[in-house]
Amino acid sequence: MTWSHWQVPPFTTSVFFVLGVLTLYWVTYNWLISWTHTRRINVTDETVNTWYGLIYMIVFVFSMQFLITGKSDAWQFMNFELIAVTFCAYFINIRISYYLLFPIGIVFMAFNGTLGAWQSWAHSLTLMGFFIVLSTIHTKFQGRRLVPFYYFMTIMSFGGLLWFWMKLKFGFTWPTLLHEWAYLMIFEALLYMYVSMISHDSQIKLQLAKYASHDALTKTSNFAAYTEDIEYLFNRSSQNGQALSMMMFDIDHFKHINDTYGHSIGDLVLRQVASTVQDVLTANDASIKFYRTGGEEFNILFPNYDVAATKPIVDEIFSAINHLEIPTKDDVITLSISVGVSAITTDDKAPMDFYNRVDRNLYQSKRHGRMRITVG
Ligand code: GH3
Ligand code: MG
Ligand code: MG
Repeated sequence: MTWSHWQVPPFTTSVFFVLGVLTLYWVTYNWLISWTHTRRINVTDETVNTWYGLIYMIVFVFSMQFLITGKSDAWQFMNFELIAVTFCAYFINIRISYYLLFPIGIVFMAFNGTLGAWQSWAHSLTLMGFFIVLSTIHTKFQGRRLVPFYYFMTIMSFGGLLWFWMKLKFGFTWPTLLHEWAYLMIFEALLYMYVSMISHDSQIKLQLAKYASHDALTKTSNFAAYTEDIEYLFNRSSQNGQALSMMMFDIDHFKHINDTYGHSIGDLVLRQVASTVQDVLTANDASIKFYRTGGEEFNILFPNYDVAATKPIVDEIFSAINHLEIPTKDDVITLSISVGVSAITTDDKAPMDFYNRVDRNLYQSKRHGRMRITVG
């Protein structure tokens, strides 16, 4: 090995080149996603995935193409292009309207100066078909046992056809075609395994993130999520003068339910209460946030709501819980809650000032006989 010459076969270099391009995508995509989350930018992960994936792969394909346009062996990088297409269509499953593929194909041919060659048109149309079929396999057949088989059959047939168009255009030999076709299959098999491993890893990360911010019993957000959100919402409301209200509630005589029916029924009651409240909130406004902040204590944050605006929703929750009937083996459990409500004021210097006032209101409800709402 010298400075100018690595004694590594081109195939090995290509494999690591492809894996490097994918890894760079993954690392930068994950960074982008966590950046949009910490800044609370109102964009879905799917939109980031689509646009970033598309731009990344277009830059990749066009810059590679830039190196070889006009040369007699301009077909040499075609396997990289096919991998980029597979990655966009199948793995990150970019959701783009299929008619948009057409202008992209035209621009690509114009870039290569091949708009006049019929083989290039055949190639572009086959490539679009390739994208559509891969994308369909991902969306329609996901989770089925035969998916890897469909994936490889698609790549084998479309890949073979695409290399055939290239042979007609550039006139290389049949052995060269077979050679490149075989390389394509090996690349795509490696891609499949590599992406499956990375996806598995990011699935675990997502799962962990969910466990860290959600309560396992009731599936609501947990205290950690509450602390983070109240910090953010409190600061935003204090700075911009936006309204922010909080409702806290605690199940009345819950210990009695545990003592009478046992802890597992107690758990069931907690789950039922949480899902009843969540249904009311979902039907009203998805921006309202719901947390389990203690054993049988829950908290609801109403961004951009003053106390008056929360009233119909608070009343609806209160009434829904009071009317809840949970059947057990021998009888039916009914319950009630005590509620405290308040809105942020200019005197609140920290989230705790706000929280303590709501807590005091809840305590008032308890002291005055429970099953009531105290606002103030
Ligand atoms: P009050 O009306 O004053 O709120 O009375 P209470 O009995 O509801 O209040 P207390 O704080 O004395 O009891 C709360 C009980 O909630 C005690 C605890 O065992 C129970 N608890 C806390 N977390 C869980 C849980 O995850 N599952 C079950 N089953 N019980 C829980
Ligand atoms: Mg209680
Ligand atoms: Mg309690």
